[in-house]
Amino acid sequence: MTTIRLKIRRRERPDTSGYWEEFDVPYRQHMNIISALQAIRRSPVNAAGETTKPVVWESNCLEEVCGACTMVINGKVRQACSALVDKLEQPITLEPMSKFPCVRDLIVDRSAMFSTLKKIRAWIPIDGTHNLGPGPKIAPSVQEKAYEYSRCMTCGCCVEACPQFNDRSPFIGAFAFGQVELFNSHPTGALNKYERLDAIMGQGGITDCGNAQNCVRACPKQIPLTDAIAGLGWETTKRAIHKLLK
Ligand code: SF4
Ligand code: SF4
Repeated sequence: MTTIRLKIRRRERPDTSGYWEEFDVPYRQHMNIISALQAIRRSPVNAAGETTKPVVWESNCLEEVCGACTMVINGKVRQACSALVDKLEQPITLEPMSKFPCVRDLIVDRSAMFSTLKKIRAWIPIDGTHNLGPGPKIAPSVQEKAYEYSRCMTCGCCVEACPQFNDRSPFIGAFAFGQVELFNSHPTGALNKYERLDAIMGQGGITDCGNAQNCVRACPKQIPLTDAIAGLGWETTKRAIHKLLK
């Protein structure tokens, strides 16, 4: 194989319609999708031999930690940095995620996810940046579970795969439940436990989950999202009963 064929879903601006453009890129052993996109950027000539605008995409860490290069590759949502050309059927199709507004080409606006992280208070408040001393002790079993949830990179794969997450629904998405589990499991984070539970109750919250479990299968970090959904389903029910009786 001397070249690889890429078929890329392109869009110039958010208000323009999309179109497909194909490219032939020189093959190199062990190349990933990011290196193929870099080759197009160096020489933006399409498969018909026409000079075109370089394809734009986002990437940062290049080791599947930041989530910025998430896109739909051969119909499956995943990170471009860890998608190896040798393992993909050709032509390789690249599309932006469909559940977020497209900014340009393969770049989408994931602000909705970051707004949700604010809504669920996905942090542990501290009262200053001075030395606060040793934190509370956390049992190894709790630490191990928290570590699994802490690997979330807000990539968007779980919401791209979720049938409930779409522009006709206010559903916040499974990643949010993983983060509520993470911060509520921390002894200091638990001080704001009820605010987080309240944030995932009601419209767009946990009861809007249809339990299709696509999210847990799509997560590249194998985050146990369905465990979080099950645990928080119980926690929010207790919270609702408690509020009712108060
Ligand atoms: S279980 Fe299904 S509906 Fe619920 S968050 Fe996961 S994919 Fe979406
Ligand atoms: S839970 Fe998994 S799929 Fe969802 S945003 Fe976090 S890392 Fe990505």
